[in-house]
Amino acid sequence: MLESLSKKLRSALQKISNIGSVDEKAVSELVGEIKRALVGGDVNVHLAEELAENIRKKSLGKLPAGMTRRELVVKTVYDELASIMGGEKPEIKIKPKKMLLVGLFGSGKTTTAAKLARFYQKKGFSVGLVCCDTVRPAAYEQLHQLSQQIGAQFYGEKGEINAAKIAKNALQKTKTDVIIFDSSGRDALDENLVKEIKSVASEAKPDERILVIPADIGQAAKEQSSAFQKALGITDVIVTKLDATAKGGGALTACYETGAKVIFVTVGEQPDKLEIYDSKRFVARLVGMPDLETLLEKAKAAVKPELTEKIAKADFDLEDFIKQMESMQSMGPLGQIVDMIGLGGKVPKDLLSVQEEKMRKWKHIMNSMTRHERQSPDIINTPRISRIAKGSGTSEQDVRELLGNYNKIKKMMKQFSPANMKRGNMAKLLRQFGGMKGLGL
Ligand code: GDP
Ligand code: MG
Repeated sequence: MLESLSKKLRSALQKISNIGSVDEKAVSELVGEIKRALVGGDVNVHLAEELAENIRKKSLGKLPAGMTRRELVVKTVYDELASIMGGEKPEIKIKPKKMLLVGLFGSGKTTTAAKLARFYQKKGFSVGLVCCDTVRPAAYEQLHQLSQQIGAQFYGEKGEINAAKIAKNALQKTKTDVIIFDSSGRDALDENLVKEIKSVASEAKPDERILVIPADIGQAAKEQSSAFQKALGITDVIVTKLDATAKGGGALTACYETGAKVIFVTVGEQPDKLEIYDSKRFVARLVGMPDLETLLEKAKAAVKPELTEKIAKADFDLEDFIKQMESMQSMGPLGQIVDMIGLGGKVPKDLLSVQEEKMRKWKHIMNSMTRHERQSPDIINTPRISRIAKGSGTSEQDVRELLGNYNKIKKMMKQFSPANMKRGNMAKLLRQFGGMKGLGL
C-alpha cells in the first residue's frame, strides 16, 4: 500500500539519522524530500508546502526536555503527517443502524457494502444488504452474489426502476440489526443522481450517509467530497482501493481538507479488506514507526503476567517456556509485532514460527528430563544432553536447540516485563527494543 510514498518518506528519515549533526541544512533537505514525496503521491502542492514549513519551524524550535534534536525531527514529521492525513481516530458506532452508500460509478460502493456487512457480522449483528442501484446492469446480481458469499440477508427488485420504492419495500422485509443500502452511481454528481439519492434517503432514513471515494482519484477527492457534502449532507467517507494506487495520500489529505471524516479504507477486493481508518496508525505504518499503543497491547497479551513475575524472580523454567511459546503461537502473527518493535533482527525467525511438529518434539525432550533439569535448565551439561536425546528419541542438536531458544526467550521476555514497559518514554523503550536504530533514536 502506497509503497512509493512510504519508501521515499522512510529514506528521507533514514538520511537524517545517518548524518553527524542535525542542523538547519539537514532539516531543510529533509523537508524538501518529504515535500517532493507528498507531491509525487498527489498531495496538493500548497498543503505539502505548508506541512514542510511547519516541520521546519517545529523541528528547529526549542528542544523539549530529554529529547534530542533528531528525536524532535522524527516526532514532528510523524505528528505533522498525521495531522494532514486526518484528525482523531473516528468513533465507529457499533450498534444496530441503517447506512446508505453513495458515490460515482465504479467507486467501490457495492463491494464496500459487502465489506461493511462483514464488519458488522463479525461484531455479532445480523446484516441485510439492499440493492437500490437501478441503473447499472447486473447490479442486483452482484450484490445478491456478495450477500450469499458472506451469508447476509439480501433484498432487491429486479427490473424495478424506482429506487425509493425498493428502499421502502426493503424496510418492510428486512428485520436485521444492520441494514446497508447500496445505491446507483453516475459518471458525475448530476441533478438526476442527487434527486434519486434524496428520494432513497427519505424512505430509508439512514443513520449514516456514507460517501465512497476511490483513492486513485488522488486530490480530486476534494471536489468530489465537497460536492457530495453540499448536495447530500454526507456523514462519513470511505476511501477505497488504497492498495491499488500511489495516490492514496492525495485522496486522504483531500478528504480531510474538506472536513470529511474518513472512517474506513478498503485495501483489496475481498470482503475482509476493510480497515478502520486511523490517521496516526496509518502514518506510523507509512513511515515505519511502530504504533506503540497497539504494540504494547499485543505484547502484554502475549506475555502472561505470572510468567513475567517468574522472570523477575529468576524462576522461569523450561515448563514456563513451553507455556509461553504456546501462548505466543495462539495469539497469531507474532512476527508482525516483532517487526513493529524492531526486534526482528534479534529474535530468530525460527522462534517465531515454531511449528507444531517442533513443539511436539520439545515436549518429548522435556519428558525425558528430570524434574530438577526442567526447573533448573542451567545444570544440563553435555552428558545430560546426550542422555536426554537418547531417552526422547531426538538428536543432541534438538536438545541444544530447545535450550538455546529457552535462553533467548527468557532474555527477550525480560524486556517485556511490566517494569520495563512502564519505565521511560517512547524513544527509550524503542531504543531498548533495538527498534528505530535506523532512525537514530
Ligand atoms: P460501484 O460501482 O461503486 O458499486 O463499485 P464496485 O463495488 O462494483 O467496485 C468497482 C471495482 O473496484 C470492482 O472491480 C471492485 O472489485 C474494485 N474494488 C473495490 N474496492 C477495492 C479495493 O479496495 N481494492 C481493489 N484493488 N479493488 C477494489
Ligand atoms: Mg455498484
